[in-house]
Amino acid sequence: VVEIRNLEKSFGDLDVLKGVDLDLFREENLVVLGKSGSGKSVLIKIMVGLLKQDSGSMKVFGQEVAKLGKKELNELRLKIGFSFQNSALYDSMTVKENMEFPLVRNEKNLSRKEINMRIEELLDSVGLPQTINQMPSELSGGQKKRIGVARTLILKPEIMLYDEPTAGLDPITCRDINSLILEVRERYKTSSIVITHDLACAKQTGDRMAVLLDGQFKAVGTFEEVFPEATDERIKSFYDYNF
Ligand code: ATP
Ligand code: MG
Repeated sequence: VVEIRNLEKSFGDLDVLKGVDLDLFREENLVVLGKSGSGKSVLIKIMVGLLKQDSGSMKVFGQEVAKLGKKELNELRLKIGFSFQNSALYDSMTVKENMEFPLVRNEKNLSRKEINMRIEELLDSVGLPQTINQMPSELSGGQKKRIGVARTLILKPEIMLYDEPTAGLDPITCRDINSLILEVRERYKTSSIVITHDLACAKQTGDRMAVLLDGQFKAVGTFEEVFPEATDERIKSFYDYNF
């Protein structure tokens, strides 16, 4: 569903992406690892048309993103769900209002009943039906993340992008979020990219790992293929640090 070929992006003198090749296959969970500043978020931004590459190709559902017009880009973005690092719930709105917001904005002909049903279904699927009338300030960090994921799913995206879904959470809550990522795939048949620094998360959720180093994906494969046998010192140190 995503095909990246020889993608390059610089900011002034800073070459961030230096010939990136990567595929995301249908219903796959692909984990992207790489140290801070390696260009993971830049890659995702090019994918949704928030930034343009200098050269190379970024195709999503077969369409070259940089060539899309405004209307086509908007249609593409509706098929891609972003789950931000800080969950980005609106603090002055209840959970229900937070969930409604993207729906009322983008799907204007849904009935009140359909809206309520979709919200209830998603809150059930993240295991938090009881929070529907609560304010974000009354929720724990892990609960906010789960609500954030539920809200992202409300427009039925075909691709989910999770930017550091488990950052700052305790190990048990991390495990819950990881299970949620797997459940979302089972239930909604999404293809996902999970950006994380957490190898336990990577191992649990990823079908394949891709390690971004010096502007390119240096190692791509299953966890077992990439990590225990790594010869590159930097990939090894990732592993040694985490296990
Ligand atoms: P982290 O793990 O900390 O989130 P990252 O891999 O997501 O890191 P990016 O946000 O992709 O890192 O940034 C990669 C590099 O590109 C950084 O050095 C950053 O300063 C630079 N950069 C990103 N966006 C811009 C921009 N709009 N203008 C100039 N430089 C930018
Ligand atoms: Mg980032």
